Amino acid sequence: MSIRRSTKKIFSKAAWHAYNTHRKGFFYSTQLSKTTELFNAPLETILKFQRERLKQLIQHAVRTTPYYRDLFKGFGLKQNDLLQKINPDFIDISQILPLEKRVIRKQLKNLCSELFPTYQRIENATGGSTGTPLQFYQDRHYWNQRNISVYYFDRWAGWDFGEPQLIIWGAPADVNGDVNWKQKLNRYWRNQHWLNGFHLTDSAIHTTFAKMQRWQPTAILAYPSSLYQFAKFISENKLTPQWELKGIISSAEMLHPHYRSLAETVFGTKVYNRYGGREVGLIAMECAEGRMHINCRDIFLEVDSADPYTKPGDLFVTQLNNYTMPFIRYRIGDIGRLSDERCPCGNQLPILGELLGRSTATFRTKTRTLIHGGYFTQQFYNIVGVTQFQLIQETLQECVLKLVVNEQWTAETSNYIVQKIQDALGAEVSVQIEFADEIPLSKSGKREFTISKVT
Ligand SMILES: [Zn+2]
Repeated sequence: MSIRRSTKKIFSKAAWHAYNTHRKGFFYSTQLSKTTELFNAPLETILKFQRERLKQLIQHAVRTTPYYRDLFKGFGLKQNDLLQKINPDFIDISQILPLEKRVIRKQLKNLCSELFPTYQRIENATGGSTGTPLQFYQDRHYWNQRNISVYYFDRWAGWDFGEPQLIIWGAPADVNGDVNWKQKLNRYWRNQHWLNGFHLTDSAIHTTFAKMQRWQPTAILAYPSSLYQFAKFISENKLTPQWELKGIISSAEMLHPHYRSLAETVFGTKVYNRYGGREVGLIAMECAEGRMHINCRDIFLEVDSADPYTKPGDLFVTQLNNYTMPFIRYRIGDIGRLSDERCPCGNQLPILGELLGRSTATFRTKTRTLIHGGYFTQQFYNIVGVTQFQLIQETLQECVLKLVVNEQWTAETSNYIVQKIQDALGAEVSVQIEFADEIPLSKSGKREFTISKVT
């Protein structure tokens, strides 16, 4: 390792610790090692901690937010009885009405805790990949805890404080065309290089790749679709990364198997899937053994299903740290399933057995069968003649397939694709093909292959 590289790493590591200690008002390393201890503890210890946090959160919500106060009146309990009984040891949390996005839009103020003055609320919003953006509030404590969990889990992918990291990101709130001096300084001391995932041109990829050959990042954090584009460029141009990358973290979108396999081949390292959302922070992270461990320190996760271990259903997320605006049983919009297996990696955090992605990418048939959008992605991504595609289920009888094609496109390809769609959704379903020069990214910058408007 060059002297310059080692010095930068030491400087950056010290800066991380100083910054976090300053922000949190306590010695940061101590907090991180306590958190690490809990994440590595036996399952009973973690679940006991989680239950206690859940109980405190629900009591806080009932005491200090108008929305939950009214909601719990529905249980027919007096305030005092209520506070006694609202305890996951006694009450089944599944009796609490799930928190829907439309309720957040309508009742934003009533969901906020009266204990927190307005100036302590930190405004945040989702990009609204499937509709209008969702606005909500978080607080400093939430962000501290969120960051500490991210630091802990990122180390599973081989990254540690101070080590150089390439970030290919595209959320409008995170990456703007113009980077001001503050952001530049931030990236410098954090030892990060950013590449805008929204505008991945060949020349931007080429310049970044050349820089990475010299700069040699330990890890990459990326949107999976941007990572795929980056890896594809490297592969097609027969370039070879000349440094040892410890791991790649993929986040914020579905990690399709073909994204993963290309990136792993090109970079010769593992891709770790990280699952989370702006509303609630990090929900689960993939370990070296390929299992998604649930972040039980910060999250209480439920699956809305008759058997959450075998039948996938809507995921309900309770965020345990955000006291300024409690998210209790929040329907995040993804579908998944739990697993009761113990992971060979040794970590005892429970496992999210399957993450099927957005419920809005789940198609429905006349016979009420659910077909996950990933089915179509698997069928179409490597068809010769198709450069890009997007399948939209408009109604139970009608689909629109948007296609960007190349010179290898033929009428047979068209018949093949329509057949595959009808095989899955029903022979009577009409498929209207629309050709385009480009399929635009969603408002949040994500690439969506499949969208269902049927609910
Ligand atoms: Zn594991």
